[in-house]
Amino acid sequence: MNRIGVCPGTFDPITNGHLDIVSRSLKFFDTVIVAVALNPLKTPLFDIKERLEMIADSTTGLTTVQVEAFDGLLVDYLKRKGAHGIIRGLRAVSDFEYELQMAMMNRHLDQTVETLFLMPSVEYSFLTSTIIKTVASYGGSIDGLVPPLVARRLRAKFSTRADRSAP
Ligand code: ADP
Repeated sequence: MNRIGVCPGTFDPITNGHLDIVSRSLKFFDTVIVAVALNPLKTPLFDIKERLEMIADSTTGLTTVQVEAFDGLLVDYLKRKGAHGIIRGLRAVSDFEYELQMAMMNRHLDQTVETLFLMPSVEYSFLTSTIIKTVASYGGSIDGLVPPLVARRLRAKFSTRADRSAP
């Protein structure tokens, strides 16, 4: 039986914390789909094409990992894929309440769906895509915290913005 796990998120952009969770989840699933939410309520820095490219590039060595965009309810996406579980990362206690709400809502929507929570390495425990974007926007070093392509894309994104806002 091919056990499929879905690791959903915004990935704006993917960080080494996300990758840590994806790698750990491979112990439990034969295939893991990194599912990038098209969530129209959020305005990401990177468009969907850029986010998918950065994830695909940073998971090339992981042959059982697939990357895809998804829209609509996550439980419906799982059904379409014949997937067995949702994978989410838990960094600190602050993540817990929101993650519990989501897991309970997904269970309410589909009783057969389980959510698996995994903890990252301690060095990524305080890492968020938001803090990475903030540091990168001020030209701070993000090396070692994001894959090399992501670091390059962030530098490019913010240097373009700085050029545009220059008088
Ligand atoms: P969302 O908008 O759904 O929260 P994110 O891309 O921010 O999407 O996060 C997707 C998942 O990855 C969430 O479960 C989040 O807790 C987890 N995650 C994000 N950063 C880290 C990290 N540094 N370590 C572990 N898990 C993380």
